[in-house]
Amino acid sequence: MIDLKFVSREEEINYPPITDHVKLFIKRDDTIHPFISGNKWRKLKYNLIDAKEKQKTHLVTFGGAFSNHLLATAAAGAKFGLKTTAFVRGEKVNNPVLDLCQLFGMNLIFITRKDYKDKPRLFKSYFDEDNECFLLDEGGYGLNAEKGCREIITELKNGYDHIFCSAGTGATAAGIINQVFISKLNTKVNIVPALKGGEFLKPEIDNLLIDKIDYQLHTHWHFGGYAKTKPELINFIKDFTQKTGILIDPVYTSKTLYAIKDLVSKNHFKKDDKILMIHTGGLFGILGMMDKLV
Ligand SMILES: *Cc1c(COP(=O)(O)O)cnc(C)c1O
Repeated sequence: MIDLKFVSREEEINYPPITDHVKLFIKRDDTIHPFISGNKWRKLKYNLIDAKEKQKTHLVTFGGAFSNHLLATAAAGAKFGLKTTAFVRGEKVNNPVLDLCQLFGMNLIFITRKDYKDKPRLFKSYFDEDNECFLLDEGGYGLNAEKGCREIITELKNGYDHIFCSAGTGATAAGIINQVFISKLNTKVNIVPALKGGEFLKPEIDNLLIDKIDYQLHTHWHFGGYAKTKPELINFIKDFTQKTGILIDPVYTSKTLYAIKDLVSKNHFKKDDKILMIHTGGLFGILGMMDKLV
């Protein structure tokens, strides 16, 4: 059985000045599992079920050296009895995330940035004749991921004027947008890419949508790009964590919350609008930026 018993509450947050103007709630997907956390469980769930149904025994995937997706895949593989291999982008490195991946039994293959670009070829060159392998795209992107992410919305107990969510590949965004549409919610979906030039995400998201559905892509709050940061973001992470007791990661969730804060200060919302931020987890990203955070 592929399942995790978990709790992901919608928690009301008191964090002025945001909450002087709007009501802020966080859906705590970060509490799903310490390692298969946040949207990574959502994206893996139906892939794991699919792999088991097809009697595959080996998950093969791709990611960067601090990838939350790799860590979640490694932990899920160990929990549900599947071997795991990851192609890791870039030269061989050691870091706590990759160490944990290996502790969960994941086999790591480091690949130059140039070779990493052609993922189908990479997979073929290592695993072509291997029928045991189940291929997961980078970040778990795909229809199975989108399907799992719909459950973020079907679980909701309350209604909201706005939902905010971070994006890397856009699969989580697509699941949320689809389910808000299917459930006919009167909620505006706001997506905040963690990468620079986030407009490239629009086709990636639209590719997984079930209809032409309206949503808002906020491409402004990338803070220099993926895994880049700025002092104002670092200060915000510290302040938010110290005042709410909720950790946010420097790559994704902090940028999304910062976007909400900025939009509040620009009077983007109506007074007392109910805003839900999806905490997509990924807290091990903090380890990649610890030197800046303390
Ligand atoms: C991976 C990740 C995302 C990006 O999700 P996509 O479905 O790839 O857009 C967002 N937030 C966190 C914390 C993540 O780890």
